[in-house]
Parts: sequence; C-alpha cells; structure tokens
Amino acid sequence: MTEGYERNYLDREIEVDILEATRVKQQKNPVMPVRLTAEDSFCFSCRRENSCWNRCCHGADITLTPYDILRLCKRLDMRPAEFLLEHTFPALWDKADLPVAKLKMADDGKGACPFMRDEGCSVYEDRPATCRYYPLGLASVKMKGAETKEDFFFLVKEEHCQGHVQTKELSVKAFREEQGVPHYDEVNRGWIDILMKLASWKVVGGPFGQDLTPQTKKMFFMVSTDVDSFRRFVFGTKFLETYEIDAETVEVLKTDDEALIVLGFDWMKNVIFNDPTINLKKEILQGAIVKARQDMGAC
Ligand code: SF4
Ligand code: SF4
Repeated sequence: MTEGYERNYLDREIEVDILEATRVKQQKNPVMPVRLTAEDSFCFSCRRENSCWNRCCHGADITLTPYDILRLCKRLDMRPAEFLLEHTFPALWDKADLPVAKLKMADDGKGACPFMRDEGCSVYEDRPATCRYYPLGLASVKMKGAETKEDFFFLVKEEHCQGHVQTKELSVKAFREEQGVPHYDEVNRGWIDILMKLASWKVVGGPFGQDLTPQTKKMFFMVSTDVDSFRRFVFGTKFLETYEIDAETVEVLKTDDEALIVLGFDWMKNVIFNDPTINLKKEILQGAIVKARQDMGAC
C-alpha cells in the first residue's frame, strides 16, 4: 500500500450498509433506521397471525451472499450454474462497483419470491441472510485512524410490517442467534470485508487509486456465486503450484465448499488489496523478485 493512499484510507470514518433491511423501496412514509449494537434490544415478532403474513416476500430486493447460494443449492439439489440461471440475475453493488447475484422475484406484477407458499417460506431452514436479518440490516463501520472495522445493526420499521407492534423483546444478539445468522456471517466474512473495503476506496477511484480490472471483477463474481467453477479454477490451473497451501488443506478443498469459499476470498483480498492473506510459494516469490530486478536493470 503506498503511503499517501494508506493515510487517505485511515484518515476517514467509513460506514457501509452491507445487507439493507428495506423491502419496499417506494413508501409514503420513509423508514427511519435506528442504529443498534449487539447488546441493544428491540420488540419484534413475525407470526402467521399477523395480517401482513408473507407481504415482505413480495418485491424484495435480495442480494444473495456466497453462503446463501451454497445453502439454497443444497436445499434445491441444484448446482450453482443451474441455480444462478433459474433463480438469480446479475446486478452491480454500486457502493463498490462489484457484481453480485440477486434473487429473481416472479414477473407477475406481484413480484412474489419463488420460494413463498401460503404457509410460509418453503426454504425456511436455508433462507438467505437478508431474510434472516429482517427487519435488521447489517452495516460495517471503520473509525477514523483504525485499520479494522466493526459490524453494527440497524432496525428498519416498514409500514407494511406488523411485527413491530408485538411485545416480544429480545436483544440483537439473541435475535441473530434465533435466526441462525452467526454461521452465515462467519462464512461470508471475506465477502463482506471486500465489499466494505472497496466501498471505502471508491472515493479515490479504487484500491491505490485504480479501478479493478474486468477480469478481477469476473473472478470476484465467480468466487461469490459459483463454487464449482472456482474449484475447477483451483484444481485445473497453476493455482496450487503458485500458492503455499498444505497438502491436508488441498484434500479438504476437494470437497468442502465452505472452506473453498473462505480460501477464495483470502485469495481475492490478496489480489485486490495485496493483503497477506495467502502466500506465494518461495520459488515463485524468488522468481518474481529476480524478474523485478531485471526489469529495473539491477542485474
Ligand atoms: S426466501 Fe423465503 S423468507 Fe426470503 S423472501 Fe423468499 S419466501 Fe420470503
Ligand atoms: S411481520 Fe413483518 S416480517 Fe413477518 S410476515 Fe409480516 S411483514 Fe413479514
């Protein structure tokens, strides 16, 4: 990281919404998000008896996280390529100019989610992170002068949602656990970090002042959405000859999709930000040093 750009990055306080809690974009009364920490409490209860039952599953704007796609593919017994074609459309996450996959709603004027049934969500145990979080949103914040960032949450009260008039009170921490969110956040951590960090670099035109190449954005989309393609890339190219990955981990990566995703985002962090999240093999590194010296006329 060059010094000037590093200073610019550290000298700013940055807050980025990662998962937005709004379902209905055009409302008469705008929603007023309330910022919460994990220890804060709020009143909410989503029940079939509520008159709004299933309303939030229409016209929802759902960005699918990498782990959402893994879980839904397993649930529906589909491979990612087939799932992406049938249930998603590509979109640009404009805060960071990165491609993401969004869940396709029905094109019938009502915009129902394809997994919605009268009795509720047909993929409930594997529903996306955004659906688990609702009515909370997830944001990441980096304070001025800090290299690391923290998550915080915001509560959104949309007009249609009757869940807020219920009296069940629970902390954000308890709600997240009840909704099975922590493991989603754990597997998605690298993806969230990259979105956040790139959003924060956007004001200076990208990491170190340069936009990502189309090829890097394509690789990010592949790692984020299609674990089969990424596995073919890891095992079918010089990837394993280039990076220091021990034999035991290589065996795990052959079948463990979660581990492969985590590796994928470690690799992307190294490619995009030069973070030390994955190491080049010694001989590759030495070869690169010799070449750089030759290019500078030092040998
Ligand atoms: S995945 Fe389930 S909870 Fe989420 S919008 Fe669709 S039906 Fe609703
Ligand atoms: S209470 Fe809110 S979250 Fe539950 S069904 Fe109604 S609109 Fe959806």
